[in-house]
Amino acid sequence: MLSLLSLFLLSTSILGSPLGDYEKELKKEGLNVENIHKLLKEESKEVEEEFGNKEAQAEIKKLRTLYASTCPANGTLQEVKTELVINGELAKDLFEGDIVLTPEQWKIALEKDPENPMQRRQALTQAIQMWQPMGAPVIPYTYEPGFPADKKQIILESQRYWELRTCVRFRPATSADRNVVSYNHNSGGCSSSVGMNGGKQTINLAPGCMSVTIVAHEISHAFGTLHVQSRSDRDQYVQIDTANIQKGLEHNFMRDPPYYGALSTYGIPYELGSMQHYSEKAFAIDRNRPTIYAKTAYSQYQYSMEAPRATFYDTLLINKMYKCNDRCQNRISCQNNGVQDGSDCNKCFCPRGWAGTNCEKRPADAQIVNLNGSDKLRVEVGDGVNYREKLYIIQAPVGKRIQATVNRVGDRQWNDCRFIGMEIVPTKDTRNSGFRFCANSRIQPITSDSNTMLVWVYTDNQRFNAEISFTIGN
Ligand SMILES: [Zn+2]
Repeated sequence: MLSLLSLFLLSTSILGSPLGDYEKELKKEGLNVENIHKLLKEESKEVEEEFGNKEAQAEIKKLRTLYASTCPANGTLQEVKTELVINGELAKDLFEGDIVLTPEQWKIALEKDPENPMQRRQALTQAIQMWQPMGAPVIPYTYEPGFPADKKQIILESQRYWELRTCVRFRPATSADRNVVSYNHNSGGCSSSVGMNGGKQTINLAPGCMSVTIVAHEISHAFGTLHVQSRSDRDQYVQIDTANIQKGLEHNFMRDPPYYGALSTYGIPYELGSMQHYSEKAFAIDRNRPTIYAKTAYSQYQYSMEAPRATFYDTLLINKMYKCNDRCQNRISCQNNGVQDGSDCNKCFCPRGWAGTNCEKRPADAQIVNLNGSDKLRVEVGDGVNYREKLYIIQAPVGKRIQATVNRVGDRQWNDCRFIGMEIVPTKDTRNSGFRFCANSRIQPITSDSNTMLVWVYTDNQRFNAEISFTIGN
């Protein structure tokens, strides 16, 4: 069983192989491929039905019109190479574009009541396996043959990124390790399985996937996270436009997908701006239009899906999943919505705009901008080579509020804010991510709920600039 599983995992790592080979492996695992086909069809139907009702269709129609009126003209934007763009046709062999399902997960999904196929088996337990031990999980890692030495630095940086924020630790695998993550560069795309599979599991990272942005996202899947839009409460936040999804791929937009058993959100609120939320144009027929719309109440988030780095809540999710704070003997009090740090019990993990042991002060490298009345600010970041970010803290007199209007974005503009852009956080509670801009989308002015507003700019390896106007109001 174990060797077959490794064989399966090995074969799925040879990405680019046609679905035929993939199916052969599933057959070897004793899975009924015809039932899988049936399952995918049912799932696609389920998604279509979920959003096929009159009310949803009416809202989608409104959202399409709104999008058309705020989106910059087609053809003027640079296409951003997200995982799904890189994966291309390959994404069809995966789940939700970048997830490798294990035979066990397929089996779980197929375990339905044959008399009532639309009814999922009740009382499924959590089927995502976690790395052990809880509270201090260790992930042994290695590289598949041929992994270029000069790309290993990005892996180490991405692992370090998570180690600094969570209690998860990585160490080079030894021959005694049974459960190992292996980074594979000889693949067609970027993908990972969800949680610990048991045995060796590959994180596939083709040449286009070699950035901390993508590697950290794929590692998060290996920790056990799914995409946010598959949460059971997603229908309160997003509308899926199935008319713009390539036929037969609708199953990738399932709510509460059955492959993982009972899912928990760990009490984390739904976040459109999460690092694990799908890009809005995934699997689109017309890539100038979204497949996922933020519902009317959240439409300012339309360009905010898929963060370049883990958000506060993305980080909290990992720390809750692995019970990172359970090992802390002490309790520490944190200000400004901070929480005890998953990586270090003696300090707080702070939401954006806060720093210090107890989140009591502003980050030393933030630029404070005190408004005088009507101010124009040019924000910029990037050296054209490395990942760079910069935070501006905009302040008005106490008791006043700030209105921001984005006048102009950059010299170049992008169709997705994953790797480059600007985020405006208008809320005093900065745990939730804000509104992102990476093109001259005509979004209405943004008003703060206190006398401060954050502007966070970021770029992977380019340069970004924008101009914002601020006015002080009551
Ligand atoms: Zn993903």
